[in-house]
Amino acid sequence: MAEFTLDLNDDQKQVRDWLHGFAADVIRPAAAEWDEREETPWPVIQEAAKVGIYSLDFYAQQYFDPTGLSIPVAMEELFWGDAGIALSIVGTGLAAVGVLANGTEEQIGTWIPQMYGTPDDVKLAAFCSSEPDAGSDVSAMRTRAVYDEAKDEWVLNGTKTWATNGGIANVHVVVAVVDPALGSKGHASFIVPPGTPGLSQGQKFKKHGIRASHTAEVVLEGVRVPGHCLLGGKRKLDERLARAHERARSAAAGADGGERVKNAAMATFEASRPAVGAMAVGTARAAYEVALDYAKTRSQFGRPIIDNQGIAFQLADMRTRIDASRLLVWRASWMAATGKAFTSAEGSMSKLYASETAKQVTAQAVQILGGNGFTREYPVERMHRDAAIYTIFEGTSEIQRLVIARTLSGMPIR
Ligand SMILES: Cc1cc2nc3c(=O)[nH]c(=O)nc-3n(C[C@H](O)[C@H](O)[C@H](O)COP(=O)(O)OP(=O)(O)OC[C@H]3O[C@@H](n4cnc5c(N)ncnc54)[C@H](O)[C@@H]3O)c2cc1C
Repeated sequence: MAEFTLDLNDDQKQVRDWLHGFAADVIRPAAAEWDEREETPWPVIQEAAKVGIYSLDFYAQQYFDPTGLSIPVAMEELFWGDAGIALSIVGTGLAAVGVLANGTEEQIGTWIPQMYGTPDDVKLAAFCSSEPDAGSDVSAMRTRAVYDEAKDEWVLNGTKTWATNGGIANVHVVVAVVDPALGSKGHASFIVPPGTPGLSQGQKFKKHGIRASHTAEVVLEGVRVPGHCLLGGKRKLDERLARAHERARSAAAGADGGERVKNAAMATFEASRPAVGAMAVGTARAAYEVALDYAKTRSQFGRPIIDNQGIAFQLADMRTRIDASRLLVWRASWMAATGKAFTSAEGSMSKLYASETAKQVTAQAVQILGGNGFTREYPVERMHRDAAIYTIFEGTSEIQRLVIARTLSGMPIR
């Protein structure tokens, strides 16, 4: 019996078709308006909450699918609708995953429902790690969290930047330095509950693309959060820091401790990056479909422009790259869900290839639509601007290449 299959199961097909319907009927028609307004599309998020797409239940169901394919399939369909609106819908999920992955059961039960709110009163969450001087280089993070033992409170100070939903979220998950001697191993994540004094929104950014998604600075000035807001709890943190110090000592003494820590952190990124690859596949596919349709219906010199190999071959290449991207994304997602080791940085490969594909394919789509492609009368202009984000967030293309090259070579390439 042949076990290998690329067929989605019936549940996955049903969810895919349902999401595609929502993307086609609700998201796509609203895309141009919210792109122009550069505002969070609250009514669309509410609509998604009403039908059950914007909810913890839905997200958790996809997240825990044992094949790993449900998240990429969902991301592809939503981002096919529109990248800015889709990010507004799934942005909370990025913060929720941080709590699901590192929080205690009590923290998960307390905070994740507050991240989503209810269909009548939807809320958002934000994940705040990047800082003005610490983007790719997270070890340069400066936001500090200091424990006030007498009050069992943590005090947070610093400035986060480019935070999706930053400042408008109900719940913020903030990464901060608790042990500066350990570099990026000395970081911990904190919940900042709704209405906590000292947290404010700094600059809201005007962006090149995904303009319906809110991106802003988050300023933390003497923000005090109760001890129970440390994700995972104090005892787990103390044990982790003690282990990290021990490994640092072993690494300095020539043992393999440092390598093991690096590998654990890398495995986490490898598992999350394919989801961004899937978003890129959604945008690329959307632009390709518009271009294919246009090429078949637009006539010049008395025949459809697709009659020219110069156009037809471009479409053939676009579709080939999109399918190859999806296969890389599915492979990495399946590996993450089934606990396979990422021995060749397959997660980074999928994100690198799919994001570069989205940029290339959307640029080709603009070219195929000619003058119309350059105007906002057609969606490929917006898709081309949106696609530029995929090679930047969740690790730039250069960082993905570094990770892949280091993994393949075992050398400390810089
Ligand atoms: C719309 C948007 C939403 C975002 N959402 C979030 C969010 O919700 N939460 C959050 O924490 N962050 C978020 N980010 C931040 C994002 O993750 C960072 O922008 C990204 O990690 C890159 O960091 P940087 O911008 O500081 O670029 P830099 O690290 O300064 O890089 C600049 C350039 O140098 C290159 N480079 C850097 N180091 C190397 C190297 N060693 N070798 C070769 N090239 C290198 C990079 O590839 C890039 O081309 C968001 C960003 C944007 C634009």
